[in-house]
Amino acid sequence: MKCAICQNGSTTEGFTTLVLERDQTIVVKNVPAQICSNCGEEYVSSAVNRDLLSRSQKEWEEGILLEVLNFAA
Ligand SMILES: [Zn+2]
Repeated sequence: MKCAICQNGSTTEGFTTLVLERDQTIVVKNVPAQICSNCGEEYVSSAVNRDLLSRSQKEWEEGILLEVLNFAA
């Protein structure tokens, strides 16, 4: 797809690392994303986003201050 940020590049399938912050910080590695080859903007699909939020919910409830998750695992 065409990048919405730079209007110039196109995106390719790749993996990114996301950081979710509330009171705690959760780092999620290997998140599938579309990444712009020009500016590096990352697009995470809404399905992946939902999955991320439901997974991180458990960590938040446990009160872990810093957690590193591997999305692909
Ligand atoms: Zn771009």
